[in-house]
Amino acid sequence: KKRIAVMTSGGDSPGMNGSVRAVVRMAIDQGCEAYCVYEGYEGLVQGGDLIRQAQWEDVRGWLSEGGTLIGTARCKAFTERPGRLKAAKNMIDKGINALVICGGDGSLTGADKFRGEWPSLLEELVKNGDISTEQQKTFQYLNIVGLVGSIDNDFADTDATIGCYSSLGRICEAVDYIDATAFSHQRAFVIEVMGRHCGWLALMAGVSTGADFIFIPESPPDRDWEDQMCDIISKHRNLGKRKTIVIVAEGAHDLDLTRISPNKVKDLLSTRLKLDTRITTLGHVQRGGNACAYDRQLSTLQGVEAVNAVLEATPETPSKFIAIIENKIVRNPLIEAVKSTQEVAEAIKAKDFKRALDLRGPEFAE
Ligand code: ATP
Repeated sequence: KKRIAVMTSGGDSPGMNGSVRAVVRMAIDQGCEAYCVYEGYEGLVQGGDLIRQAQWEDVRGWLSEGGTLIGTARCKAFTERPGRLKAAKNMIDKGINALVICGGDGSLTGADKFRGEWPSLLEELVKNGDISTEQQKTFQYLNIVGLVGSIDNDFADTDATIGCYSSLGRICEAVDYIDATAFSHQRAFVIEVMGRHCGWLALMAGVSTGADFIFIPESPPDRDWEDQMCDIISKHRNLGKRKTIVIVAEGAHDLDLTRISPNKVKDLLSTRLKLDTRITTLGHVQRGGNACAYDRQLSTLQGVEAVNAVLEATPETPSKFIAIIENKIVRNPLIEAVKSTQEVAEAIKAKDFKRALDLRGPEFAE
């Protein structure tokens, strides 16, 4: 019987549990044995009780739960070969040679590296007497398939990552709460949302809540942004608006890559426009709570497709991740997508903002 393991890695996101549930149940449905790796790559490196078989009922009720019930971690050991060697040994000890990883670009890069190195890791394990040549033959290929779990929606070649719509919903709900009190006191609020390299959450929250101004890393404001922002907000106030909302992505900066902090924006609004201004940093509430309907659906459909991809993969197939493009669940090449994802961060660093926006796609261009 084929044994398929599933793990979550990197930052948690709502919907990760839905994907674990789908992989476990689809694997069992297809006559395979399902395993969960606990605590991300840490579990793979440490092995033992951190890699456990999962039954159908073990993932009951997981579809709606936020976070990841099998844990996640940042694992330094896995970034080095000795750590990956241990991970390979632990997998073979458990009879596993297929792995579905739900995580961000770092986690998926690590998975592809692990897969590429697999034959040489097995070679070394045989040389060290840790596995037999028979085991080397049985486990000669490692299948990996990626699922993208991230609240930031920062991954290329897919329209949505698992968790981004739950997080966007949470942000909008929080802004609605703030709206009510801002309106009452005629206050201004500067709201910081997550997104270090990616402004998707800030951009979509701005559109969805009718914010007065937003700051995102891919598109820094013009040099005279302080005047522009104050003019726009004054105009809105003069039109009778009783509240002001400015949304700042945590990675927002100006054209010189100097951070635009919520404090700086607040000072401008209070000193220049004389608005009673408060800052709200939404922080980790953006990650918590139940998965929204979209993330439940996405994680389920993608988890099912991940198992299909594992079962159909050949040693020659390049590593794949499961994407959603124009509402269709598809398998896309993993490494190209990781490269495009990292290119955005590089374009921002090089101040090539046009390229950063082009890479992000049409939602940003508009
Ligand atoms: P997020 O988008 O939330 O940051 P991520 O998956 O990009 O998620 P990382 O911290 O970059 O998060 O990666 C998670 C783990 O994946 C790391 O702690 C490490 O164990 C493994 N990993 C990341 N990059 C590599 C790499 N180049 N080689 C091997 N392992 C890696």
